[in-house]
Amino acid sequence: MTDYTVFRQRRQRVLEDLGEGVAILSTAPAQVRNRDSHYPYRFDSHFYYLSGFPEPEAVVVLLGATGRAVLFCRDKDMEREIWDGFRYGPAAAADLFGFDEAYSFSELDERLPGLIANQKVLHYALGAEAGWDQRVIGWLNAVREQSRSGVAAPAEVRDVRVLVDAMRLIKDDYEQGLMRASASIACAAHRRAMLATRAGQYEYQVEAEFLHEFRRRGAQSPAYTPIVAGGANACVLHYVENSALLRGGDLLLIDAGCELDGYASDITRTFPVGGRFGGVQRDVYELVLAAQTAALSAIRPGAPWNAPHEAAVGVLAQGMVDFGLCRGTVDSVIESGDYRRFYMHRTGHWLGLDVHDVGDYKTDGAWRNLEVGMALTVEPGCYIRPADDVPEAFWNIGIRIEDDVLVTAQGCDIITAAAPKTVAQIEALMTAAADPDFIAGQLEQDLYA
Ligand code: CA
Repeated sequence: MTDYTVFRQRRQRVLEDLGEGVAILSTAPAQVRNRDSHYPYRFDSHFYYLSGFPEPEAVVVLLGATGRAVLFCRDKDMEREIWDGFRYGPAAAADLFGFDEAYSFSELDERLPGLIANQKVLHYALGAEAGWDQRVIGWLNAVREQSRSGVAAPAEVRDVRVLVDAMRLIKDDYEQGLMRASASIACAAHRRAMLATRAGQYEYQVEAEFLHEFRRRGAQSPAYTPIVAGGANACVLHYVENSALLRGGDLLLIDAGCELDGYASDITRTFPVGGRFGGVQRDVYELVLAAQTAALSAIRPGAPWNAPHEAAVGVLAQGMVDFGLCRGTVDSVIESGDYRRFYMHRTGHWLGLDVHDVGDYKTDGAWRNLEVGMALTVEPGCYIRPADDVPEAFWNIGIRIEDDVLVTAQGCDIITAAAPKTVAQIEALMTAAADPDFIAGQLEQDLYA
């Protein structure tokens, strides 16, 4: 059951910050996929964060001077509702979502100039969407035309996202609850994939296990296109074809998470298609896992954003030297950036309503310090493409291990810990999965639990 008071409280905080300003936030438009088919609708994250309102064609206006929150949304329309589904309509929406006033979306152009008149600052996401920019400029000009009657247009336009991003960076209890629920669904899906994977299947068949488990457990969609990358495909960072045949001796890298009530989970696991890690695969896997453990230990309030990344790079660089992938000392490999040949991305990102969530990583040129309530991913990896100067045993090994964490007073809480991760956990689960009775029992449990 959605708790709409949290959205009202967030609007209250923005209203207090606005002073004598007005904020306008519009939601995302419905997107045509082809001809008259649409993509599944997804609201704008900023708009949703302050409204909880899920329909397209909606705008929130916040008036700092009077502390009023106004919603514009679609009218009730029996004919459209018969074809396309329920609409709240302004009256019911104001009531349920806790707005002071609500009007028809069709009245926007008529009412907006009046709402922004005599407000000192307009907070609006300028440049985010050209169509809305044009409309907002039109409202500003409409107010300016009344200047001789003593009405003033806002003299200043600021980016409303600056205010909201800072709030979104720290997850409140309501968000943390949803993020844990989203994470737990994604963990179940990763576990299911380990149980279902067999040599001779195609990557998309494993992808199907994710889609099934996400929806079965109530997630509305994947949070992003799943990466299901067997063997050499794991060295393509954003591989999404998911069309290749899985071979017994290969590793399978899967980066997949779901979206639950707007909140993303984002997990990567890498495991052997055949159920057991081969010699060098195991060594590289243990290295990446040690890098992740080091990164996780570096997370605590007050630690700079970059601390987990630096911890991971330290461990990875040592391993690359030990394996003969990089030459020189660990310090020189880090200094020169040679490690980037095998680890070319960063160790994490903010996570929330957007999978790469909003919020600055640096403030005034320095890495931001972590704070209680921040949510981030921790995802070191190692990707080894064939090359003359790379020992052949390492060729085409691509490994990433990614968890989602919430920063706590003590350090961090790994909310995706239920997805098997150690060599022992993965091999034990996959060995058990080779037994048809075990799988039958799991299915029984999953289907009727
Ligand atoms: Ca990811």
